[in-house]
Amino acid sequence: MLSTPAKDERTECLIGVGHPLMVEHGALYPSSAVCLSISTFAAEIITLLLTGLYTSIQLSSESDGIGNGVSCLPDSSVYCAGNGFCLPSLDTHLTCWRFDVLVCVCYCGIGLGRIRENNQRLRATFSPTGSCFVSLGLAAHVWGHFILYTHTKHTSIREANLYEHWSFTWVLLVINAGYCLPRICLYPPRDIAARAQPRDAFTSFGIFGLMILALIERTHCAELLHYVGGHILYDIGIALLAIGRELLSA
Ligand SMILES: [Zn+2]
Repeated sequence: MLSTPAKDERTECLIGVGHPLMVEHGALYPSSAVCLSISTFAAEIITLLLTGLYTSIQLSSESDGIGNGVSCLPDSSVYCAGNGFCLPSLDTHLTCWRFDVLVCVCYCGIGLGRIRENNQRLRATFSPTGSCFVSLGLAAHVWGHFILYTHTKHTSIREANLYEHWSFTWVLLVINAGYCLPRICLYPPRDIAARAQPRDAFTSFGIFGLMILALIERTHCAELLHYVGGHILYDIGIALLAIGRELLSA
């Protein structure tokens, strides 16, 4: 928990030079905490805007019946990620599935360890409801990659990249709206105590970074992403975000 700085530790806020920023409950915070709070608020808003942009790209890529959208013309690269998944090979979904199983097991192991933890402070920071929600999401992620692998393993790499599927778009909509919208509505930038915690700041910036990566994956698979692992990069990001959140609350 953030503690209210002692008087001699107070610093002037970047907002209103010469006047320390008064926040809720009359507490004063260092300028770094104030700026971090404002930055997380901005990151969440931009994440939602980018999610809207991503969805509009998918909606504008109307299928012609065989998976070719306006952004994946017949003469485009075999690595045109029409469904959002950038697959360098036909085994990419299988690789992601294996990796995600490992992540899911690690995450559930951390949760079970926290439940058995004797340290009261660690137990107090553990949210069974939140952890169950994340575990379900990770398990659904595992299942989704397995299903996509079974549906694309006998196709060509171009057909696999164009395989019509909205799961990635739904994942982004649910994760980003589910996390960012309530926080934007409930925690304004002045609510520094709720915004500048390491765990929450890490999550806000993490989701923001993952949204940028998803956009690059959707639009630059052929030119960039398929050279560096494609969708597995996004899955590594998910793993870092889910496990990093738990470690930061320890
Ligand atoms: Zn994935």
